[in-house]
Amino acid sequence: MKYTIDLHTHTIASGHAYSTLIENAKMAFNKGMTIMGVSDHAPKMPGSVTSLYFNNLRVLPEYIEGVRVLKGVELNVLNERGEVDLTLEDMSTLDYGIASLHSPCYDNLGEKGNTLALINAMKNEKVKIIGHPDDSRLPLDLELLVKEAKIHDVLLEVNNSSLSPNSFRKNGRENYLKMLKYCIQHSVPILVGSDAHFASYIGEFSEVILLLESIEFPEELIVNTSESKLFKYL
Ligand SMILES: [Zn+2]
Ligand SMILES: [Zn+2]
Repeated sequence: MKYTIDLHTHTIASGHAYSTLIENAKMAFNKGMTIMGVSDHAPKMPGSVTSLYFNNLRVLPEYIEGVRVLKGVELNVLNERGEVDLTLEDMSTLDYGIASLHSPCYDNLGEKGNTLALINAMKNEKVKIIGHPDDSRLPLDLELLVKEAKIHDVLLEVNNSSLSPNSFRKNGRENYLKMLKYCIQHSVPILVGSDAHFASYIGEFSEVILLLESIEFPEELIVNTSESKLFKYL
């Protein structure tokens, strides 16, 4: 099984990432990836860019360094109503949004409130992916999240960075084991993301792959291995 798609990547525009789009695309090409999405942090993340940056992604060519580049954003979910920090108009030229909870932009509302925040974010027509639903510091009702992802046709991310030993997120492995079990039970697909903040991590999925193999997670529920599977969701 070959993973050829990575939609969760950051560039220097995010303010705390260290490579350019061209450096990322070159790395993606060298690793044999066919599609790379650029998903810089939306404006409420301290040090990130303004809405104009996202709106103007339309100037990018479709292919950079031989890789098809999709235009995205990692949105900050701001509250229980699932509001995010770009308008639909700001995102009108984007291919997708990843909706994530980030401590600098969100106050922990407890398991019920955090889950509701993400479920309401799924109703936003540009939100196609829920980013890293794996951090015990912001607890979630994972079974409810999985069921709602199915209803709203939104992909749940399994984030490789959350599983790396130096991740600041808590209990990623335990939370993903639970979430993946519910995904199998309810037949809900996942999207693996690198969350690369430096070019060498583009397409780096090794921690997730080990986890998926350890539970024999079914290939048909992994979206990164087929463009046709992916485009049903974008
Ligand atoms: Zn994030
Ligand atoms: Zn990210």
